[in-house]
Amino acid sequence: MLMRLAFRPLVRAASFATTCALSLTVGRAVHAQPAAASVSLTRLECGTNAPPTDVGQRFSDTYAYNGLKVQLVYSCYVIRHGDDVLVWDTGFPKGPTPTAPKQSLVELMGQLSITPAQVKFVGLSHSHGDHIGQANLFPQATLLVGKGDWDVLADAKATPNQAPIAPWLTGESKVEPLTGDRDVFGDGSVIILNMPGHTPGHRSLLVRLKETGNVLLTGDLAHFHENYDSNGVPSFNTDRAATLASLDRFKQIAKNLKATVIIQHDQRSIAKLPAFPQAAK
Ligand SMILES: [Zn+2]
Repeated sequence: MLMRLAFRPLVRAASFATTCALSLTVGRAVHAQPAAASVSLTRLECGTNAPPTDVGQRFSDTYAYNGLKVQLVYSCYVIRHGDDVLVWDTGFPKGPTPTAPKQSLVELMGQLSITPAQVKFVGLSHSHGDHIGQANLFPQATLLVGKGDWDVLADAKATPNQAPIAPWLTGESKVEPLTGDRDVFGDGSVIILNMPGHTPGHRSLLVRLKETGNVLLTGDLAHFHENYDSNGVPSFNTDRAATLASLDRFKQIAKNLKATVIIQHDQRSIAKLPAFPQAAK
């Protein structure tokens, strides 16, 4: 009898504790873990192709190529993260030069129903003219660029044409000179990777997609497949040892994450993503 009396309150206490634990668990699941934002990746044409390039001229500091011609292309990328957008590299600006794009990034993004106001971040792989040309179309965006390259861009002697990054030089727009990797949206889905060597602050990009899987965009860590495969270094390159170390890191990430590697300047990489205006999801 005594045991039965003592047992009942214990059962009640146990079931109350269980109920509390359950409601806490349910509460946490509903409130503290919002559904992950949908992420997608689209390639945009950011220049007009020149005839195939003899990569034996400037693209190998070891004379690796004798007359090999590669079709180089100019690529930009739009990464949608929920309602926010990162533009990765901004190509050449529109204009009279033969390699200028026929449509601006804003015009192309209009076909994706993206307004310039949605562009929260502009990420630059590096400071070269074929990657920064249209950045100034998005002055409301935070500019994400390696510190080594920001220092080059901010130096009028090193960068005679500063027009593409003028909004960030005047202090009107926000710039983050990066010293390491950068988790762009804070959830690990889009990460700017520190890959110095081609230029002092060169960066690559990792995009983790639900259906497609992991995608790595090289920037100009390599310009074409032959150099990527053989750890080839172009003759226009800031730091050879740093480039080789970055290639080593990049390839280990690609292997560990089973990532699709997109070499931004190589035409043969274009078909690895759905054709514009389609997006990899
Ligand atoms: Zn380039």
